Amino acid sequence: MKTYDISLLVDLHESIEFYRKNPKNYGQTVVIDSNDDYLLELSSSLVEEMNQEIFEDGNKYQVLVDPVKGSTAYCAYHQLGIPALTFETCRKLPLSFRIEEQIKFVKIILSKWDMFVAVQK
Ligand SMILES: [Zn+2]
Repeated sequence: MKTYDISLLVDLHESIEFYRKNPKNYGQTVVIDSNDDYLLELSSSLVEEMNQEIFEDGNKYQVLVDPVKGSTAYCAYHQLGIPALTFETCRKLPLSFRIEEQIKFVKIILSKWDMFVAVQK
C-alpha cells in the first residue's frame, strides 16, 4: 500500500451471513471504517447504484460505518490515510450471482474514475 499512490483501496469480501440477519456478519454491505464525508458519499452512491438491479429487498446492500480494527481497509484508512472500503456479498446467495456483483461493483468504481467504459447491453 505504501509503495503505490492509491486513491481508493477496495477490499472484495464475502460473509457467511446477511448483516440484517446477524449484525456480527457483513453480508450485503459496504463497510467503511470512519464517518468520513468522502467515504460516506462514495459508498452511498455505490450502494444506490448496486441496489438498482436488486429486486429482492433482503438482498439489497447498505452502508455500514463500522471500524473493523485490523481489517485491510481499516489499516489503509487509519494508518496510511488512504480512502478505503470493504464490499461484502453474502455467501448464502448463489456463487454466479456473487461473482457478477463483485465484478459490477469494481466496474462502477472504475467508471467513476474514467478507467472503464461500460458497453451497454
Ligand atoms: Zn469480510
